[in-house]
Amino acid sequence: MSAAVTPPTLEVRDLHKSYGGVEVLKGVEFDVAKGQVKAVLGPSGSGKSTMLRLMALLEPADRGGILLDGHRIGSTEHGGRLRHHHERKLAVERRQIGMVFQRFNLFPHMTALENVMVGLTQVQKVDRNAARETAYAMLTRVGLADRDGHYPSELSGGQQQRVAIARALVLSPQVMLFDEPTSALDPELVGEVLEVMEQLANEGMTMIVVTHEVRFARRAADEVTLFDSGVIVEQATPDEFFDDPKHERTKKFLSHVH
Ligand code: ADP
Ligand code: MG
Repeated sequence: MSAAVTPPTLEVRDLHKSYGGVEVLKGVEFDVAKGQVKAVLGPSGSGKSTMLRLMALLEPADRGGILLDGHRIGSTEHGGRLRHHHERKLAVERRQIGMVFQRFNLFPHMTALENVMVGLTQVQKVDRNAARETAYAMLTRVGLADRDGHYPSELSGGQQQRVAIARALVLSPQVMLFDEPTSALDPELVGEVLEVMEQLANEGMTMIVVTHEVRFARRAADEVTLFDSGVIVEQATPDEFFDDPKHERTKKFLSHVH
């Protein structure tokens, strides 16, 4: 066997971010291995969405670094100071990271198929026929082959979120980030979205999922993380995290969740 060391797919190092003098991320550190699914739990306002936005390169960090397959993305560091990449370089780097938001943010004037195609035709400059075929295959994968011509207003929240997942997946990202993807859904629509995500996890996608869905975290995650006040408090396997948490903060959080 080769002893070659494969770097984690995603590495987050000492990530800091402040808004108006208030430090929201206070040195976040973690790794995500290839194919790993990490569930992130934590109270509202603790900085979870901020962390995902920084990882998706939608906002610059104040300090620290993000590495994808061992290569730093988003910025370079010179003597402790960050120099953020220019927009064109960021646009290329962003394609490697798929993000799904709580609100689906589909284009209302485009059909489901067109919403999935648009990244291919406009970002990747794929020919329209090829893009249509790839997008249709992706809609099929999320169980929406028969909804390709529907506009978002003609789809349920669960269906819209599955279109949003297909839209992110179609660009073949290395990592998928989910920010409370089922929080805006009616309870009866949560299951169909979690099912698609679980299938994705089983297929080996590398995923970070911010969620309140304990059942999903138990079933689909390799590792569960408690995030609080801008830092990671505890990381463990689902069994350890839910059944035998080590930190008082985790025990307290879980007592409110259960
Ligand atoms: P979570 O997703 O865990 O609920 P957020 O990352 O959304 O937490 O927010 C963490 C804190 O940062 C909150 O106090 C929020 O008000 C603040 N915050 C987030 N984004 C901004 C922003 N763009 N400008 C100012 N404050 C922000
Ligand atoms: Mg949030």
